[in-house]
Amino acid sequence: MHIGQAPEEITGAVIAPIYQTTNYVEEAPGVTKGYDYTRADNPNFRHLEEAIASLEDGSYATVFSSGLGAATAILSVLVAGDHIVAGDDLYGGVWRLFTQVASRFGIEFTFVDGTEVKNFEQARRMSTKVLWMETPTNPLLKLTDLGAVAKISKAKKILTVVDNTFATPYFQRPLEKGIDLVLHSTTKYIGGHSDVVGGSVVTNDRGLKERLDFARKSLGLNPSPFDCWLTRRGLKTLGLRMERHQYNALEIANFLVTHPLVSKVYYPGLPSHPQYNLACSQMNGFGGMVSCEFNMPLEKMKKMISQFKLFRLAESLGGVESLVAHAATMTHASVPSSERQKSGLSDDLVRFSVGIEDAEDLTGDLETTLAKFS
Ligand SMILES: *Cc1c(COP(=O)(O)O)cnc(C)c1O
Repeated sequence: MHIGQAPEEITGAVIAPIYQTTNYVEEAPGVTKGYDYTRADNPNFRHLEEAIASLEDGSYATVFSSGLGAATAILSVLVAGDHIVAGDDLYGGVWRLFTQVASRFGIEFTFVDGTEVKNFEQARRMSTKVLWMETPTNPLLKLTDLGAVAKISKAKKILTVVDNTFATPYFQRPLEKGIDLVLHSTTKYIGGHSDVVGGSVVTNDRGLKERLDFARKSLGLNPSPFDCWLTRRGLKTLGLRMERHQYNALEIANFLVTHPLVSKVYYPGLPSHPQYNLACSQMNGFGGMVSCEFNMPLEKMKKMISQFKLFRLAESLGGVESLVAHAATMTHASVPSSERQKSGLSDDLVRFSVGIEDAEDLTGDLETTLAKFS
């Protein structure tokens, strides 16, 4: 709550103002107070960066216009011919950035099942520069053993990137496990209110921080001062929100597991999750995302998930209000069906972003709607 939020010096305002400016007066040509143009830097960027870096227990953060902006900045440190080994259950937009944009610039990719660390090792080439993973993944909630991946990559001088959007630093801090770069779509839990798009990268490496700042300024990946201010405000309640998201998610997961219309539930906090033990050892909590498959024809299921009262049918996740999404036609529509099948993502998969409403209201919403389709 306090880091990057010192009272403003001139008036004593408790909350930092929004520095809605493009440029800054110079005392003499080239002599600045640290800022010259807002594409490169702005005080509101730094307020948010200090807070996110401290939550990840990292030295530096750089904020961007979006999670994909953050991913673009990381890719920009590579050159044609470099190879990335990535988990196969990635956010659809990251998958599209890799396969339809970065690949055209000569960056090569191999996608592997990240639940087995040896798969990253086996896919490694001489030209491999980055291991890229989400854990838990979106939407199948698969885990990767962060300590084990960090160990392989340190030996081979390969950069490791973890997209920590689902877990948030409240539940998982990859840098502590030896990971080099931690990415967030701050659009999700960090902002937390579904009203601002943004991204960030945290690292302990000064050289990487400089390259990320350079990418922001050179590629135009900067956020707006107001967006950073809003995100910084949302971030203050991250801990409270995550506790409630998790409490509600476990209630929903337990409700779904026992329901006759549900064939499979994915939640790392269920002891039946194949990687429950890894979740307990590398995370401090299991988060607010729950996925499941229903036991009914696809069209009927699509109709059903459009009729919840509290779970709004919408893209995105991590806001205080509950959402539901159909992966194959919404969040992961940019991943071709053949690729989805390879990673185990069925056309039946439904993803819940469990909000912070009253848990009984949420299970009640599911119960009433499912009853109509029994
Ligand atoms: C949403 C999301 C992204 C992309 O972030 P944007 O802010 O939408 O650009 C990346 N990774 C994960 C896991 C996400 O959920």
